[in-house]
Amino acid sequence: MKLSSPTQGISSLLSLQHLTVKVGEKTILHDLSMDFAPGSFHVILGPNGSGKSTLASFLAGHPDYVAATDSQVTFGGQNLLSLSADQRSRAGLFLAFQQPVMVPGLRVLNFLWLTYQRRFSDAATRPQKTIVAFRDYLKTLAVDLDLKPELIDRGLHEGFSGGEKKRLEVLQLMVLQPKLAILDEIDSGLDVDALKLTAAALHRLQNEIGTTILLITHHQQIVRTFKPDQVRVLIQGKLVASGDMNLLEQIEAEGFNSFKTLATEVS
Ligand code: ADP
Ligand code: MG
Repeated sequence: MKLSSPTQGISSLLSLQHLTVKVGEKTILHDLSMDFAPGSFHVILGPNGSGKSTLASFLAGHPDYVAATDSQVTFGGQNLLSLSADQRSRAGLFLAFQQPVMVPGLRVLNFLWLTYQRRFSDAATRPQKTIVAFRDYLKTLAVDLDLKPELIDRGLHEGFSGGEKKRLEVLQLMVLQPKLAILDEIDSGLDVDALKLTAAALHRLQNEIGTTILLITHHQQIVRTFKPDQVRVLIQGKLVASGDMNLLEQIEAEGFNSFKTLATEVS
């Protein structure tokens, strides 16, 4: 099934300018400046504890993470910092969590139908008009992701394997068609075949919907599967390198060690 939606005519969907983020008194992210063009595919790589999940949670609007006063973040031309977490999600920002939450009483179908109706709030232009039609649509998407269609009728993440949870996150992405999809460690729990399926689904969103993808991981081995346009390295909350796939060769040859010195020099 073909996905369809207009892409945006702006040069930068998400723009971070001198972003410094604190939790209480502790500074976790230091002076980050990055631009994400609409429809581009980005990877942020870094060892554990470098602030990757903090960046993802901060962008999604987690209240514990606070930007310093001179930080600027725009999303689709709007000041992201003035939007609540709910407004961000309705504006098209989606975060797939590192650890998806299990909600046994809530059926996947009902959960997705609710989020779908919120995302596409105008019932007249919404492609799927009824929950019955929506269920059929979900089943088609599930087959494309090699996800058992009967999981749609189960409780959210209830009895799901690690790989099934991640595929459901991707299914949710296909349903919500966000402008920006942030995937935090989507690779954990996925085998090589599932990784390839996920990569194909993300490229489909990128190409058919114009979704900007931000994949966050500490595994440089998986990055080639996703063929990103841009690769950045985050260490100790600092952006220490930025480039294309060629940057991977340096990481593959030297690990993160060569960048650690840079993180100290930047500070
Ligand atoms: P990564 O995802 O790259 O492994 P995190 O963003 O989870 O890194 O963590 C980066 C640093 O920020 C760690 O030192 C972590 O302990 C700290 N940190 C993250 N969230 C909080 C929090 N809510 N309170 C205190 N420290 C935090
Ligand atoms: Mg993390």
